[in-house]
Amino acid sequence: MTIQEPSSISLLSPTGRFAPSPTGPLHYGSLLTAVASYLNIRANNGTWLVRIDDLDPPRQMPGAVSEILHALEVYGLHWDQDIVYQSKRQHIYDEALAKLQEKGLVYFCSCSRKDILERGERVYSGHCRKGHLAGRKQYAMRIKVPQTTLSWNDLIQGPQITELFQANGDFVVRRADGLYAYHLAAVIDDAAQRITESIRGADLLPSTSAQRYLQQVLDIEPPEYGHIPVAVNEKGEKLSKQAGATPISTVDPATTLCKVLQDLGQAPPEDLEASSVSDILRWGQKNWSLDNVPARHTL
Ligand SMILES: [Zn+2]
Repeated sequence: MTIQEPSSISLLSPTGRFAPSPTGPLHYGSLLTAVASYLNIRANNGTWLVRIDDLDPPRQMPGAVSEILHALEVYGLHWDQDIVYQSKRQHIYDEALAKLQEKGLVYFCSCSRKDILERGERVYSGHCRKGHLAGRKQYAMRIKVPQTTLSWNDLIQGPQITELFQANGDFVVRRADGLYAYHLAAVIDDAAQRITESIRGADLLPSTSAQRYLQQVLDIEPPEYGHIPVAVNEKGEKLSKQAGATPISTVDPATTLCKVLQDLGQAPPEDLEASSVSDILRWGQKNWSLDNVPARHTL
């Protein structure tokens, strides 16, 4: 008797992630994203991962990681598996860059921000494709971007069409200071973690075409993307540490969590605030509807 091998065709189980940058404690906007990605995955019995996007040490705040993780716990957002830190994955990004080099898709660029500005380029034009200026100390690596149209369907914002080059130019994959750029790292890590859906803030919608292009050239199956509205302050600026957003309170998480559900279009009943965070999340999971999340870019 022979034992049948398991089928090689395996459907990926739903896997989502929340990937904060530790530039400061969690604020209301990042909590919205965390809850939306958590509920959309849990409603489909999927796996929810937390990844720390700590690629840019100069922008990071000491202690932010533990503050973020503590806040997630207080809000009942329990993650699966070990947390992945991008700062420890340099070698994986090196491999991806080598692949792009083999394909002849990347080149050195010696232009400074000032050079690009002085040439009046809205996006980088490909100036160094034919050779960079000698004598500069540091070189970024950029990827050649073709003049083509990319289209995809966003789970929340609907059909998207982007002129790839006009939107991104030849974008940076490794910065002149040697740090990897967000697009490359995010694409590589989403693939390594078998992420099937990326629910994130609409401020990242313009990044999606660049990331989908990287997935194409690296033969990576893209996850589904869904972009939720971004919380803004009274000046209309995205909540961020730079814009002085206050950290979310860990004192009365039930009230804040119900407001999050409200802002995500889920219409929680009024008396839900009296429940525990785990009961509120259970209600959110049971009644979750991605279709009800507002298809706007800001709240
Ligand atoms: Zn250049």
